[in-house]
Amino acid sequence: MRDFTYQRPASLAEARNAAALPGAMLLAGGTTLLDLAKCGVAAPETVIDISHLPGLASIEVGLQGARIGALAKMSAVADNAGIIREFPAVSEALWQSASAQLRNMATIGGNLLQRTRCAYFRDPSGFPACNKRNPGSGCSALGGVTRNHAVLGASPSCIATNPGDLAVALVAFDAQVELGARTVALEDFLLTPGDHPERETDLQPGEIIAAVSIPASVAARRSTYLKVRDRQSYEFAAASATVGIEFEPDGRTIRDLRVALGGVATRPWRARNVEDALKGKVLEPDAVRRASLLAMEGAIAQADNHYKIELAPRVVARALLKTGALA
Ligand code: FAD
Ligand code: SF4
Repeated sequence: MRDFTYQRPASLAEARNAAALPGAMLLAGGTTLLDLAKCGVAAPETVIDISHLPGLASIEVGLQGARIGALAKMSAVADNAGIIREFPAVSEALWQSASAQLRNMATIGGNLLQRTRCAYFRDPSGFPACNKRNPGSGCSALGGVTRNHAVLGASPSCIATNPGDLAVALVAFDAQVELGARTVALEDFLLTPGDHPERETDLQPGEIIAAVSIPASVAARRSTYLKVRDRQSYEFAAASATVGIEFEPDGRTIRDLRVALGGVATRPWRARNVEDALKGKVLEPDAVRRASLLAMEGAIAQADNHYKIELAPRVVARALLKTGALA
């Protein structure tokens, strides 16, 4: 880990100016940044500590939706009564993330900007070839061990999975990221790799996430986050799904549906084809299982991750049946 300069700005405006300088990185909870600095992936010249900035940790839930400050801790959001009532999938996604210690340190802004868990990315001395770390150097994962890599949204340059849980729930409910001068949909903010896997987000120099807002919806109020992983806690998703359902007054026909996947794609993956196939239909097991297969449309497996193409539709189907009280 190389030496760096530490700054503690007094205001968000001051922090934005400092963040615009080359080699600057923000420190919120520090649980990602310190990890990456220790393994040699991150080498900031200046660390800008924003953890103490006032006014960025509030959690407001009202009739229009929720607004969550970027410095709100994962555990505080998971435990918030308004979030549990209006956005249960958001609370569940957070509760199933990381460990209690990490959730008490880590922030919502930092969570959305966490980096991939691709083992080759995190081992610069063992695997110099990584287009995400070092553009143009190649991809050590291609032809390597690919059990945890993406089957959706990958490119010949990078097949790394987005590991986040919270972002899957947020994308399902059209969350927006507030960046100060502009606000963007989270789904557009998180990028697929294409030819430039080094660009993971639309964050511009000097921009800081101030808050995330989620519009209220009936589907969000009736929602679930289902995460399947190698062990029951402290593990990233092999496949996960957020599902939210609004029924017609008959209580059986689907009026609005949200489906998003995690653990299988290069960014949180909204499955609009599954949503469109089921809207207007009666929720019943056979239709659900057929529609869930659409979630893997366009999926491409590597040597070791074909199981994700089998697993993800089952996770979507189980989440749909659970949310619809059929399982
Ligand atoms: P930091 O480390 O402070 O920052 C992370 C990055 O975001 C840095 O690049 C920083 O510059 C930038 N940043 C931070 N805040 C802002 C802001 N407001 N605006 C702009 N840039 C900002 N996550 C899951 O979703 N599911 C899991 O199961 C899971 N398991 C984990 C297991 C382990 C062992 C570890 C170490 C992490 C795990 N995580 C998991 C990731 C964890 O949730 C993140 O490390 C954490 O959320 C990052 O938040 P932070 O505040 O500590 O970010
Ligand atoms: Fe790097 Fe992406 Fe290849 Fe992993 S999959 S080694 S992050 S280029």
